[in-house]
Formats: sequence, C-alpha cells, structure tokens
Amino acid sequence: MKPRPSFPANLNGAGVKPKPALGRPALQPAKGLPSHTTPTPRTPPVSMGLGLDSSAVRAQMVAKLAAQGVQDAFVLQAMGRVERHRFVESALAGQAYEDTSLPIGFEQTISKPNVVARMIELLRQGAQGQLGRILEIGTGCGYQAAVLSHVATEVYSIERLRGLHEKAKKNLLPFRLPNVHLIFGDGMLGFAKGAPYAGIISAAGGENVPQAWLDQLAIGGRLVAPTVTTSGHQALVVIHKTSQGLDRQVLEAVHFVPLKSGIV
Ligand code: SAH
Repeated sequence: MKPRPSFPANLNGAGVKPKPALGRPALQPAKGLPSHTTPTPRTPPVSMGLGLDSSAVRAQMVAKLAAQGVQDAFVLQAMGRVERHRFVESALAGQAYEDTSLPIGFEQTISKPNVVARMIELLRQGAQGQLGRILEIGTGCGYQAAVLSHVATEVYSIERLRGLHEKAKKNLLPFRLPNVHLIFGDGMLGFAKGAPYAGIISAAGGENVPQAWLDQLAIGGRLVAPTVTTSGHQALVVIHKTSQGLDRQVLEAVHFVPLKSGIV
C-alpha cells in the first residue's frame, strides 16, 4: 500500500481538473453531446472480440447516463474512461455497457452503470473539483474503485471476501491507478487509518449505517449507502456531516447485496 497522504482530508482537490489517462491523449468532448457533460477518451479502438469498439460503446453508455439525468462532468468523464468489460468474465463482455448489473463471482454483482454514476454523483454533490480521500466499502471486482480513482485524490476500497479482493487486484493491475488502495477486511469497521474521508460509499446494504463510517467521515463529507429504512426496504441514504451534526436524506429504493460482518 502506498503511503497515505497528509491530514486533514482534502474535501475538494481545489481547482484540480480531471486527469487524462496514462499514456492517452487529452480528453475531447464526445460528438453530439453537450461539451460540459461528456468529455470522452479518444482511445484506439479496443476489440472486444464481439464486433464492439469499446470506446464507442462507452461513449454511448455515457450519452445514455446523461440522458437519464447524470449531470456531473467528472462522473460522466470517469464513466467514459473505465473499461467495464475488463471487470467481467469474457462471456459477459458483450453486456458490459448495458444498463444492467452483472455477476462477478462469489455470489456478488457489479452494480448497473446508472447506479454507479448516480451514487458517485451524490457523493460529489456540491464539490467543485476532485474529491479528497474516499472510502469504498465492497471492492467487488474493482470497477467502481477504478471509476472513483478519476474523481477523487485517493481511494481506499475494502472487501471482506478474499477471493474478490484478489480478483480486484488482478483486474486493476493493468489500469495502473496509484491512487487506489485495496484493503482486505471488514468494511463495517471502516478503515480508520485513512480517516477522515471526504466521502464514504458502500456497495452493500446494511440494516443501519455503521457508527464507524460516521466517525470516519470528515466534517463536510458525504456518505452514500444503500440502507434498510423504516419501511423495511432498502433505499439510498445520503448523510452529509456538518459541524452542526448529520443531515440524512432517504432517496430512491435500490437493491444491493447485503452488507455482512467479518472476513471470509
Ligand atoms: N463496487 C463493486 C460492487 C461489489 S458488490 C464493484 O464495482 O464490483 C458489493 C461487495 O460488497 C461484495 O463484493 C461484498 O462481498 C462486499 N461486502 C459486503 N459486506 C462487506 C463488508 N462488511 N466489508 C467489505 N465488503 C463487504
């Protein structure tokens, strides 16, 4: 693991612009889309063996996300940069850019692109530039960690299933993302060594938001997590921590895999 950046958590990487991917030309707005929303990487076409050009298919996915209401240019750009098909089994690569969740093994799933984009947009609400340090609970295959790496200065991502932790390491290796730190552990305890966080995002839904997450969130930070609400159903919960206390919003119903304690 790389040394942790200095305290306190940087809530906004002030004035920081989205970075071009390693070894790639600067990003250009995609054709036919408003320039403020859709810078899209001009990568050489990547053959997916299914007659699909990965960068063009991703640009289509980004256009669809924008049409569905995702407005944050950082989020759209990040979604356009990460090759989702590299995180799923090759038999599923053809579905990688459809708005669908997909199995990643170990009875877990990678969330729909729309849900990933929506949650990161909520996490970034009010942020001007790049976010500071982020904690992700539930690394899974590593896809969302890769997306987060383009909108935050540091990403700490924790997974309780060793098999998936190892899989994510392997998946992320070719992306060379030095600001992503993968941790094998129980995310219900958060990851105190990286705290305080500008944002905490959970890819697994619990009965409650664990106290450790609230403690490890910086003042001014946001937490986005699927949580069971008083109605007994899972919904997206956003908590904004202010110097006055916690401001909690319950949003739309969602369906995430359960948040479990302990490591396996
Ligand atoms: N963000 C992931 C989605 C993974 S699904 C991706 O892009 O692929 C949710 C993940 O949360 C599962 O891998 C599950 O094992 C993990 N999880 C559930 N409870 C957890 C906990 N207490 N700590 C860490 N990970 C947990």
